[in-house]
Amino acid sequence: MTYEYERVATPASGLRLHLNENTAGCSPTVSDAIRALTPEQLAEYPDYDAAVAATAARLGVSTDSLLLTNGLDEGILVAAMVAFRGTGGTAEGIVVVPAFDMYAACTDALGGQVVEVPLDDAFTFPLDRVLHAITDRTRIVWLTNPNNPTGQSIPRDAIARIAAAARGAIVFVDEAYADFGPSTVIGDPLLEQYPRLVVGRTFAKAYGLAGIRAGAVVGARQTIDSFRRVAPPYSLNVCAAAALPAAFADHNYYDWYVSQVARSREMLYAGFDKLGVRYWKSDANFVLARFDGRGTAIVSALGARGIHVRDRSNDHGCTDCFRVTAGVVEHTREFLTALESVL
Ligand SMILES: *Cc1c(COP(=O)(O)O)cnc(C)c1O
Repeated sequence: MTYEYERVATPASGLRLHLNENTAGCSPTVSDAIRALTPEQLAEYPDYDAAVAATAARLGVSTDSLLLTNGLDEGILVAAMVAFRGTGGTAEGIVVVPAFDMYAACTDALGGQVVEVPLDDAFTFPLDRVLHAITDRTRIVWLTNPNNPTGQSIPRDAIARIAAAARGAIVFVDEAYADFGPSTVIGDPLLEQYPRLVVGRTFAKAYGLAGIRAGAVVGARQTIDSFRRVAPPYSLNVCAAAALPAAFADHNYYDWYVSQVARSREMLYAGFDKLGVRYWKSDANFVLARFDGRGTAIVSALGARGIHVRDRSNDHGCTDCFRVTAGVVEHTREFLTALESVL
């Protein structure tokens, strides 16, 4: 079995609703901040102090419990390095599937064994099966809250019980979509109670910085110190370091996008109901929908009309499913119009 990140082809044109990007583009305060960088600043290794301080303030954590990373993808890679360093081939990483590909890809790349635990049929969180899968070989448990691609949240109690059961392991809670959902572990006493509990965040989605590459991991100081030891010293480039404080300063933009997401989800539910399409209510900026017998065909037909959605039919339990970004309301309207004509 190989676990590789499945790179999707870049569409030449059209509406990108396949990668959960922010299709409004980032806040203009960000592009202004990047434009204001001088040739000298671009020639120097970046100073992160302002970006670290702004991110810590935004997340409500101390700077020593925070590591900025080159996208959350690098945070995931660093977590896998810390988990599997020196373990010699028998150590395990638990992945609850369907899941973001990077957990299995990084576990495998660092020499860990991938232990897959499937979600229940209704995509509810399989707490008992995860607890059962934890052994003394477990070095990391990968959780996504809310999940990608299902959009379902994990109950806090489940995270607490896993952290209690997997004390020798890192419990990595990927909160890439927490901006759109009801809960976060950041600020929760669980983070102090379980020092190996780590939270991953990205500024790719709500802040529209996917191309800039900026993410963060948050956890107990000693655990984040162990991440710092294996992370490169200049993970973020100077544009990303300038972008973060600028992005956090524009509250209106953030609030606007988060409210667009909430409206778009409701529009998708109503549109799918009207068309008789099965879907799962989501706490993220996307919705997973099932088209019995013709998921892949509909993805192609939409693509031919310039509307790109993500075929997830090969993911565990996702036969005939695709995932569509629920972001800018106008773009959701375009998707629904195209879907109606395809069906
Ligand atoms: C998008 C995504 C990421 C990656 O975020 P980047 O900051 O763009 O690297 C990580 N985890 C999940 C679940 C995602 O969907």
